[in-house]
Amino acid sequence: MKRLSILGSTGSVGRQTLGVVRALPDRFRVVGLAGGQNLDLLAEQIDEFKPDFVYHQGKGKPVHQSGVEYELLSLDDIASQVEVDTVVMATSGKAGLSPTLAAVRAGKNVALANKEALVMAGEIITREAKLNRARILPVDSEHSAIWQCLNGEITAPAGLILTASGGPFRDYSPAQLEKVTPEQALKHPSWQMGKKITIDSASLMNKGLEVIEAGWLFDMPFDKIRVLIHPQSIIHSMVEFIDGSIIAQLSYPDMRLPIQYALSYPERLPNEQLRKLDWGETGSLTFQEPDFGTFPCLKLAIEAGKQGGTCPAVLCASDEVAVELFLSGRIRFSDIAGLVEQTLAQHKAVTDPSLDEILEADSWGREKAGQLGEGKKP
Ligand code: MG
Repeated sequence: MKRLSILGSTGSVGRQTLGVVRALPDRFRVVGLAGGQNLDLLAEQIDEFKPDFVYHQGKGKPVHQSGVEYELLSLDDIASQVEVDTVVMATSGKAGLSPTLAAVRAGKNVALANKEALVMAGEIITREAKLNRARILPVDSEHSAIWQCLNGEITAPAGLILTASGGPFRDYSPAQLEKVTPEQALKHPSWQMGKKITIDSASLMNKGLEVIEAGWLFDMPFDKIRVLIHPQSIIHSMVEFIDGSIIAQLSYPDMRLPIQYALSYPERLPNEQLRKLDWGETGSLTFQEPDFGTFPCLKLAIEAGKQGGTCPAVLCASDEVAVELFLSGRIRFSDIAGLVEQTLAQHKAVTDPSLDEILEADSWGREKAGQLGEGKKP
């Protein structure tokens, strides 16, 4: 029985994690739940899973029926309690950074779905994880795929191939991209996800962030990480070996599979809710190179990753602001990349930054992107 803390339990990955726990109740017990503002859902989760520790950001209290008693703790404390074996880090944005660090410092297994922690502070988090013998278990489907392909290998791989669905605007021209609405951008063809990551998937920023994450997770230089558009989202990523062999991981796109693998690792568990691949209905699997000109966010992210230091933090911060401005109708979809690029261009990067310097760069990036965004007209 593994004891879990789930941070971001009311979000998309958090709810799917609880779905896995529900399907495998004699393998996992939820000891900690941390949600945001959705107190009604959090109260339902408290009733069902009876955690010992809870965190929430809402005004008031989650009103649950079961009379279960729990302790209210901070995010960092829920991530580092002695009773916890595995922390599922499913909060989105930079809110995931501090509890991820707390969890690795406490030597926990960290099932990491939050992107920003590794993108912003990959060096610090991977160093602390090594020092404290914490394991980072990737939950993102691409990184889970690479991790599964590397299982048992003792020779360093020659390269990684991250697949991308290409999002809803895969075949759009730059002119068409100027006119897309938030409603169109929020309709992802293969994955059900939160709003921010769905927009990032449409701009391919998400894939760029995943390249940076993959670099840290698998200790791989950026020029050995390739992105390949694969619209069917059946191959979740691949590893190329020095003898020319390529190993891929395949399944229908369903986040519950990588979540479950991170929780059950090194075991695999049967789960009837996960649909097996039906080759009869799969049809052709196709691949194409990404168009860096039409989707400049991908290149911006990889460049920021190569520059390192505080650049990835500014990339994340300015992208978060730009996505909010787009969703509220104040800038165009095609302005997102420009806003991120202009913010990065004005940033004086700090190399080998401390956590405080990373957080300062984040605040600076938000403010600067906000100012630059005000000048734009939709
Ligand atoms: Mg992904």
